[in-house]
Amino acid sequence: MNTLLLVEHDNTAVADATLNAVTAAAKLGEVTALVAGSNCSAAAEAAAKIAGVAKVLKADDPAYANQLAENVAPLVAQLMQGYDAFVASATTTGKNLAPRVAALLDVAQISEILSVEGDNTFTRPIYAGNAIATVKSSDPKLVLTVRGTAFDKAAPEGGSASIEDVSGPGDTGLSTFVSQEIAQGGDRPELTSARVIVSGGRALKDADTFKELIMPLADKLGAGVGASRAAVDAGFVPNDYQVGQTGKIVAPEVYFAIGISGAIQHLAGMKDSKVIIAINKDEDAPIFQVADVGLVGDLFTILPELTQKL
Ligand code: FAD
Repeated sequence: MNTLLLVEHDNTAVADATLNAVTAAAKLGEVTALVAGSNCSAAAEAAAKIAGVAKVLKADDPAYANQLAENVAPLVAQLMQGYDAFVASATTTGKNLAPRVAALLDVAQISEILSVEGDNTFTRPIYAGNAIATVKSSDPKLVLTVRGTAFDKAAPEGGSASIEDVSGPGDTGLSTFVSQEIAQGGDRPELTSARVIVSGGRALKDADTFKELIMPLADKLGAGVGASRAAVDAGFVPNDYQVGQTGKIVAPEVYFAIGISGAIQHLAGMKDSKVIIAINKDEDAPIFQVADVGLVGDLFTILPELTQKL
């Protein structure tokens, strides 16, 4: 099966999530990576080095500078004449683009695949990850998004794919890039690639207390910082900290859930973490059902002590 893979990049470097998507795409067959951008030669060269990528298509056009989905989707739909499957990461970018491609190709999208069971058969989570569906497509072409935490990263070095220039319809005039604000997390690792995550919930009371108790522990551990939706909705931290069904899906080596009850919508985003450590004063809190290590007690006593001892 010929597979076209969307490369996420900033015109220079390839985003980490693409490496997981390459592993998924390689299970379908030969992988051609699409780098759509402007002055994006460096990104195309980086994509060509990823192990498992057979060819890179570079669409270098000012219309693709910010990878607006409205402009990139017709390009992908046009290129798909020569491919059987389109694969994108289930990131904000992939989730924005893939449904447009599916609509233009008049096929169904299969979202957030967890495994490839055959040419047309995949598993994917339903009911916020409480059940896993096996789905088989009967469409002539596949449009897939990939849940990154379900696939290992492909090696970023070692490949030597050829790079071919392609062009597409360019600017559709449907949208314009105005500006972007990148949240500054300082030196903290990005949530979806962090090895350790410290997350806080509603029990943290307010933004100042969250900062005072969660950040020092995260700093000591070199961890990313996450939060429950209740903590985000209450304004303790910005919403890109949210872990869960409607937030980020993470699977770090160690996940701390501090003052988080463990609602299914939160578990949907973190239950695949390798080791889960929960601190909660309620011994019946559902988080303890998935925790590998549980501390029943008052976080206002436990956290400062833990941080100090580390
Ligand atoms: P609470 O449920 O209020 O839990 C607070 C916990 O802190 C309790 O277990 C309590 O025992 C403990 N606690 C209190 N004081 C202390 C103390 N001093 N020391 C130790 N422990 C203490 N939620 C998400 O997180 N992510 C999502 O993506 C998400 N998506 C959603 C999507 C939908 C459609 C819906 C309906 C809900 C979604 N939610 C999501 C919300 C979810 O249902 C819960 O409401 C939310 O996760 C609760 O957050 P929490 O655990 O911080 O707060």
